[in-house]
Amino acid sequence: MTDDRPLLEVRDLTVDYEVGGATAWRRRTLTVVKGVSFTIAPGETYSLVGESGSGKSTTGRAVLRLAEVSGGSVVFDGHDLAGMGAETPLWYRRDVQAVFQDPAASLNPRHQVGRAVTDALRRHGVRSRAERRQRAAEAFEQVGLAAAHLTRFPAEMSGGQLQRVAIARALVLRPRLVVCDEAVSALDLSTQGQIVNLLADLQASTGVSYLFIAHDLGVVRHISHRIGVLRQGVLVEEGTTQDVFTRPRHEYTGSLLAASPASVPDGREERRALRLARGGGLGRSGSSSPFLPVAG
Ligand code: ADP
Ligand code: MG
Repeated sequence: MTDDRPLLEVRDLTVDYEVGGATAWRRRTLTVVKGVSFTIAPGETYSLVGESGSGKSTTGRAVLRLAEVSGGSVVFDGHDLAGMGAETPLWYRRDVQAVFQDPAASLNPRHQVGRAVTDALRRHGVRSRAERRQRAAEAFEQVGLAAAHLTRFPAEMSGGQLQRVAIARALVLRPRLVVCDEAVSALDLSTQGQIVNLLADLQASTGVSYLFIAHDLGVVRHISHRIGVLRQGVLVEEGTTQDVFTRPRHEYTGSLLAASPASVPDGREERRALRLARGGGLGRSGSSSPFLPVAG
């Protein structure tokens, strides 16, 4: 395995939905992702942006095997998803995780939030209850939650805290790719910044890759290495973050930039740009602790 092999390779991906009801004469095929190609390197954040309905979530769902690939291919670490069969293998469900917009929706309101993490560990074969508890406490610490939060119920936590739980659940399995679908979109601006920073720090310490999906370009600016712009199912632009922000080639990207009210505050942009310019910065150059500043 060479280092420059992509972790994820999406090639000419097409996704169709059958719509229009139960009878054959009413049904029609709606193609919502139309020949989309991109790659994600180990430790890289690739963002997909575009307005609502442009096919971002569907693309992410195809990668997660939650939407059927109608044409083209999705290859993860050399494994074509088409060859996996109906049941997604356990290793793939561990290596490829997701964080969605609404963490409360994926947490059981009657369970203490720590259980989301320990259950994930149990599903993936961690037999010892003590070890599950220990690892859950460590995961909480990594995402900036205290051990005392493990026994809280979802209703007792803020949106930002719940999203930290969702991130802990995703990262505790040491995945190689996390699909973050509008993971910060429901949060207020300053919480968005905190969560984006957390994701960047976790990437620096673990080398995880992100497929980061957002309708707002401002949100992705500080976390993306590269950005793809989707419009009506077609990837109309792709480039490094700097290129997309400073030299958008497609008129549509310009209108998205104009529509983005503010970029998420961060202050680390210069260091990140510097790192990228030096050819580093794809994750592994950072510190080993998720809470130390990313090494410049
Ligand atoms: P985005 O995430 O960019 O907002 P989506 O991928 O969710 O876009 O949706 C792309 C298009 O596919 C939209 O027109 C949406 O209405 C349609 N769509 C999404 N999911 C389904 C589905 N399960 N069945 C039929 N159409 C769908
Ligand atoms: Mg979406």
